[in-house]
Amino acid sequence: MEGLKAIVLICDGMADRPVSQLGGRTPLEAANKVNMNTLAQQGECGVMDPIAPGIRAGSDTSHLAILGYDPFKAYTGRGPFEAAGIGMDVRKGDVAFRCNFSTVDSDMIIRDRRAGRIETGTDQLAAAVNGMQIEDVTCYFKESVAHRGALVLRGPGLGAEVTDADPHEVGLGILESRAIDPSDTASAKTARIINQFILKSYELLKDSPVNKAREAEGKMPANIILPRGAGVAPHVESFEEKYSMKGAAVVETGLIAGIAVYLGMDVIEVPGANGGLDSDIMAMGQAIIKALDDHQFVLCNIKGGDIAGHDGDAEAKVKFIERIDQVVGMLMDNVGKDTYIALTADHATPVSIKDHSGDTVPIAFWGPDVRVDSVQAYDERSVVGGGHLRIRGTDIMNILTQLMNTQHKFGA
Ligand code: ZN
Ligand code: ZN
Repeated sequence: MEGLKAIVLICDGMADRPVSQLGGRTPLEAANKVNMNTLAQQGECGVMDPIAPGIRAGSDTSHLAILGYDPFKAYTGRGPFEAAGIGMDVRKGDVAFRCNFSTVDSDMIIRDRRAGRIETGTDQLAAAVNGMQIEDVTCYFKESVAHRGALVLRGPGLGAEVTDADPHEVGLGILESRAIDPSDTASAKTARIINQFILKSYELLKDSPVNKAREAEGKMPANIILPRGAGVAPHVESFEEKYSMKGAAVVETGLIAGIAVYLGMDVIEVPGANGGLDSDIMAMGQAIIKALDDHQFVLCNIKGGDIAGHDGDAEAKVKFIERIDQVVGMLMDNVGKDTYIALTADHATPVSIKDHSGDTVPIAFWGPDVRVDSVQAYDERSVVGGGHLRIRGTDIMNILTQLMNTQHKFGA
């Protein structure tokens, strides 16, 4: 591969707040992470607001920003990326939903939102509803993992500003989806289609052989599909169009894979990369190195730190950061002198709040001719005052492409 290359390594939810159990240090400050520190010492550092100061970022919106797409324009909901991530054809103007196979009784009261955590047979159930025609709209449905799936509505004049039909609680009846603004006829049409789709899914699924077999075994039938998270598929430039380089993604979660697929990046499957704390993240590192053979850019998302944050488990988070540090060391040892590494997080997931916060995250750029600053350690507070001071997620690709000499000049 000609030219300079770049890796953006996003440690999901790695940043944190001071934890009393860790003596007032953050998990990153408490972790033994010599490689990250070396990268910071040899790099140009700073703090980053993934979206903007104080904004609590989701992983999806943050990854869009880090890839240089304004999330306020490109993000309309999780549905389109979810659908793209499982290999569905999603076109501009489609309205897409995330879905659950669920269980209802004959009065349409929810008995289980995950259909007894169904694991098998959902491909047959999906085939029974896929391609359904309602008015002038075609409903494409595909199963994902376990009880999950995605729905893509394709037809003229659809909107996505609709309320969920899923009551999100067992024992409640299915709600009627409505347009949030009653005068929004496009969204009203989507709501009408969705309400019919849900009822038809029940009619088509309730007596299916898969469900008869489940009931015979005393399991919850997956007898209805409940969509949520509507989004209009946005029109975005592909990654290759935008940057004139081929991008690959080494990621563990369907959501981030969906974003990468949507942007036309090559998603590289890594056996053993399971998104958990025991994920084979070293194999992900090796996959990055290999991907650099035929891609100029590789995005990697390692999920575990976010999991530990949501679990409120400071010890687990420290240990996982130490595992990531081994991957960072391996990357630094194995990439050529032509490769940049940007090491960051997509948001903080503080163990004290068990959810994403709007705190800043550390960022370090490492590679040929970066203007090394005085930062000595890679953590939330040590990077303050580094050469990049305080940047936003949408700045990362600008900073990298100017280092890589691939950016067009603005002006004469
Ligand atoms: Zn995240
Ligand atoms: Zn999270």
